Amino acid sequence: MIETLQASYAFIVGACIGSFLNVCIGRWPDGLSVVAPRSRCPKCGHRITAKENIPILSWFLLRGRCSGCGERISMQYPIVELIVALGWLAAYLSFGMSFMAVRVAVFGTVLLGIALTDAKHFLIPDGFTVFGVIWVLITVFVGVYLGEYYPFARPWDAILGMFVGAGAISVTGWLGEVALKRPAMGFGDVTLMAVVGAAVGPQRALLTIFVAALIAPIVLLGIVYPLTSRGTTDEAGQLGLPLESSASWKRRELPFGVFLAPAALISLLYGDRMIESYLRFSGLR
Ligand SMILES: [Zn+2]
Repeated sequence: MIETLQASYAFIVGACIGSFLNVCIGRWPDGLSVVAPRSRCPKCGHRITAKENIPILSWFLLRGRCSGCGERISMQYPIVELIVALGWLAAYLSFGMSFMAVRVAVFGTVLLGIALTDAKHFLIPDGFTVFGVIWVLITVFVGVYLGEYYPFARPWDAILGMFVGAGAISVTGWLGEVALKRPAMGFGDVTLMAVVGAAVGPQRALLTIFVAALIAPIVLLGIVYPLTSRGTTDEAGQLGLPLESSASWKRRELPFGVFLAPAALISLLYGDRMIESYLRFSGLR
């Protein structure tokens, strides 16, 4: 009984955080504040009431349309809220009612925000990375106090990982630039990898870049190009994924954060096991 209550609590908190994440995703790329003003319909200016602001549910109650003018509301809102709610629930189920569950859940939420803004706008807002690095470093020291480390890096590894992550992605970007003869990576990827390195330490920071390079072609060929190949964004737009056309994806810097973010979560949760089995498989251990 108490487990069910705690699980529902984790889900509801996650849904609310997801709702706030939607605000960050919507406003930070335009340099707007996420605190004020209250959300309005971008078309008719209708102010979103408290009843219309319930995570996940409101979108369905409104049937995906603004109550003022009937303009479509992107499916991104309920989808992001649901994903974050499930993520927080999964963190509770894996780590119990603990500080570690909150650490993992917040880290995953920040990574999701980064992946989505990078996919939509080709940029990683400083809001995510600055909050991320402060959060990760503060929680490292709270972790020392509580005696809780794993799966996050210990303090010294966190500092080292920050530099290794940022350094390794800079070198990767430079090599990419030489190979592709165009800018391959933005500074947002460097700050993102500083955050990731602080969270997972140097070894798993390198693993993150490797995993991202593996999943990039799968995501590009499997999801992004099919969704954007018609040269219009209609289909993606209806799914609430206002991706730019594939021409734009080919022309601009590759939004590598889209792949680094999930790779970082994989490295945090499974990285040590992956490195261990690789070493065993290759006979190095
Ligand atoms: Zn409206």
